Order: sequence, then structure tokens, then C-alpha cells
Amino acid sequence: MPIEPARRNATLQSAVEDAERRYVAANPNSRARVERAEAVMPGGSTRTILHFSPFPLTIVKGVGATLHDADGHVYLDYLGEYTAGLYGHSNPAILNAVRTALDSGITLGGPNLYEAELAALMCQRFPSLDLVRFCNSGTEANLNAFCAARAVTGRGKILLFNGAYHGGCFTFANGPGAMNAPFDVVLADYNDLDGTRALIRAHAEDLAAVALEPMMGAGGAIPAGPEFLAMLREETERHRIVLVFDEVMTSRLAPGGLQEATGVIPDMTTFGKYLGGGLTFGAFGGRHWIMDRFDARKPGALGHSGTYNNNVLTMAAGVAGLREVFTPKAAIALSEAGDRLRARLNAVFQERRVPFQVMGRGSINCVHFHDRPIRRPQDAPARPELQTLFQLEMIERGIYLARRGFITLCLPLTEADHDRFVAAVEDFCDVHGAILRQ
Ligand code: PLP
Repeated sequence: MPIEPARRNATLQSAVEDAERRYVAANPNSRARVERAEAVMPGGSTRTILHFSPFPLTIVKGVGATLHDADGHVYLDYLGEYTAGLYGHSNPAILNAVRTALDSGITLGGPNLYEAELAALMCQRFPSLDLVRFCNSGTEANLNAFCAARAVTGRGKILLFNGAYHGGCFTFANGPGAMNAPFDVVLADYNDLDGTRALIRAHAEDLAAVALEPMMGAGGAIPAGPEFLAMLREETERHRIVLVFDEVMTSRLAPGGLQEATGVIPDMTTFGKYLGGGLTFGAFGGRHWIMDRFDARKPGALGHSGTYNNNVLTMAAGVAGLREVFTPKAAIALSEAGDRLRARLNAVFQERRVPFQVMGRGSINCVHFHDRPIRRPQDAPARPELQTLFQLEMIERGIYLARRGFITLCLPLTEADHDRFVAAVEDFCDVHGAILRQ
């Protein structure tokens, strides 16, 4: 999409209106598809997060680190399917593994050759894993972990955090979501050391689990402080509460996940996203004393079924990904690339006195539309107009990212791609600096 030279607007509102007008004009095929879809799916969508105004792009193809839309535009993929797209769209090791698995049948109805191999690779990598079980999504992984914690402790409550997202039925962006699973939840504030400690102690007798992301992903790429994590480990140990790390996103941030990087090892960990090689995936695991309860040979074993828990395509792609592609060395290199990109983007905002900031760690980052300190999601309320302008203008400059400023890196992105991204942000700030500073 060509960029018009001077598009300076007097107000934020007029800038947003202009950006939306150009977006609508540039994307007639995407719009037509959404209109057809509206007849058969609520709002034309089957995935809430993918909706944005005026309508989302229809993606027809992914190649390497690029996405191609229905109107022929090509984008650098800085969304990376919300971290699931780590391997990009054409990794040969992943594609070969899937093709090989396809040739031997895909719904076999028995244990296959891949599942224990993927389990072994994960148990070697992630320090909290003695044993692991697979499922089909991060949501399901958390559901299983929370139910397991309740079963092994005989207690009912789960302590979670305001602003957290652990799946479609565990969302706490503005308090508990209306579609949340009916767990008895105690909500604390992320990084609030004293307040959370007091809540744990007050509910200790009833708490089955304390669960959190060691860096909030969807909540705004907000890292947990080391003292906060250490306090959670100490209090949960003292009160025999299961500490669950949701590493659905953060497991990519170091070879052994953020648990390895922070040195705080939970009792259980949940996984999802890229670990299935880009196919549908979830997993939960942890210490023997919890996971042994799923041993079906033992009387009174906990049940955990799921037709597709060991689906061969995911298992095969996951094995190839961890063994051949996302090696410990690759994990470290990707995190370093993400750290460099975040520093460059923050420098752009500071040099141009645009009061935005990028938070995050390694390859998971989020642009925030103010420059005040952020320790918890409540410190970063939505700024819908700024978010709309930023996203639509990045799309216009060939950069695909989420409306809320969420950015992840996939492996095939290059330094030249990052240069393009930084240049696009510089141009955005140069065009709109005056209204962004207001
Ligand atoms: N947990 C976290 C931290 C997530 O970010 C997500 C999804 O974005 C989930 C759980 C749910 O995973 P899924 O979408 O695979 O159900």
C-alpha cells in the first residue's frame, strides 16, 4: 500500500478517521469476506481477539515471516499468531515432519511414535516438569492444571491476578469475564507483594493454587518482579498451595522458559502456542506428587481424556520444532533480538518526545500509549483512538501487529526486517508527533 507523503492531522480524531478511510479503500476484498461471514458467524468471526474495527484483514497465505492478505498486500508478521507462530510460516523441518506424519494416517486411536518424544524434550527443557500431559489448547491446559490442583489439595479456590488472561474462560481484564468457567477465584494485584501475601494468608486454608504468568502477556507484556515471584514461591510452599506458572506464552523466552530465567520453579506449568510447531497445542505438567495421580494403572487415578491429546500432526511438528529448530541457542538468540528491537523502539519514542513505551522481555513486547511506570495491567488502560491509529498506520506501512500494540518475533524475521519496523515507527512519529504529544 503506497504511503502518502504528508498526512498531518490537526486532531487525533481526524487522524483516526483518515486512517480508517484509507484502510477501507485499500481492503475491499477483506471487507467483502467479512460481510459474507456475518451471515453465518456472529460478527463474521469465530475468534474474538481477531476482530478489530473497521474490519480485520483476511489473511490468505503466510510465507516465511510474511503474511499475504486478500487484497494482495504483503506484511511483515509482527503478531506471530500471538506467540504460536514462532516458527514462521514455511519452516522446512516443521513442514517435513507434518508431511511425514500425514503419510502414515492422522487419526490412529492409539499411542503413537511421537508423543513420548515430545514429552521427553519438554521435560529436559523445563525445570518444573517431572511429567507432562498433552491437550489441545492453552485454555485446556489451565483448566486441567486448576482441576488437578483442586484434586490433589482437596481445596476449592484459585488465586489469580487482575488483568490476567489464561484463556477464553479465564479472563480477568475487567474483573472476571462473563464467559469464565465457574471457579471460586480470589483476585490479587500483579506485582503487589504485600497485598498478595496478605490475600494468600487470609485464604490459605482454601487455596488449591496460585496461578500466574511470570510475565503477563496479553495483560501488556509486564514482567513480574523477582521479589514478587520469590514471595509467591515461599508462601505457596509454606501453605502447601500449588504454584502454577502459565508459560503458554513465556516458555519461549529462555531455553527452559521464564521459570529457568527467573530461577523460580513452580509446582505445575501450563504450555501452549508454538510448542506444537504451530498446530493446535496445549500441555500441563509438573512434579511427580501431582502428575503421578494421572497414572491410569493406579486405583482412583485422575482422568484426563481428549480425542486429540496426542494428535500425530501436532506431536510430530512439536518434536521437529524443539529438536531441530528452537534449540537452546536459537531461544537465546531470539530473546536477544527482541531485547534489541525493544530498546530501539523505545529510543525512537524518547528521541521524538512521543510519550509511548514498549514493555516486555525478549521476543514478546507491547507498545503502551503513555510513558508512566507500569507494574500491573491497571497501570495501562486502553487508549482506543491511539491504538487504532498506530495499528492501522503500521498495517499501511506493511507491519502486521495487534490493535493493542502486542508484538512478537518469529524466527524468520531478520535484522533488515527489524530496520523496516523501526523506520515505520519513526515515520509514524514524524507524521503524527504533534498530536501524539498532546
Ligand atoms: N494462557 C495464556 C497466557 C495465553 O496468552 C493464552 C492465549 O493467548 C492462553 C492461556 C490460552 O491459550 P489458547 O488460546 O491456546 O487456548
